[in-house]
Amino acid sequence: MQEERVNINLLKMQYEEMDCKQLRKIRSHYRIELMKLQKVLKKKGKRNEEKCQHIWQKDMSARGGRSHYDCKKCGLYR
Ligand SMILES: [Zn+2]
Repeated sequence: MQEERVNINLLKMQYEEMDCKQLRKIRSHYRIELMKLQKVLKKKGKRNEEKCQHIWQKDMSARGGRSHYDCKKCGLYR
């Protein structure tokens, strides 16, 4: 946890000097971390989701041509 905080401070300091290649690398790193997190949340929320009568709403932050939806009630993402 401590190490993570140091890395983030380092990122802030170096942010302005970064080129596209470095930024791309960081973005891809956090995309992977986000996918891991979604996997964990999905597993943990499984029981709730099974009981939920989903109300799907479009995720406006989604990019790349594909539409994604999340449930207003349980937060399930698809
Ligand atoms: Zn739901």
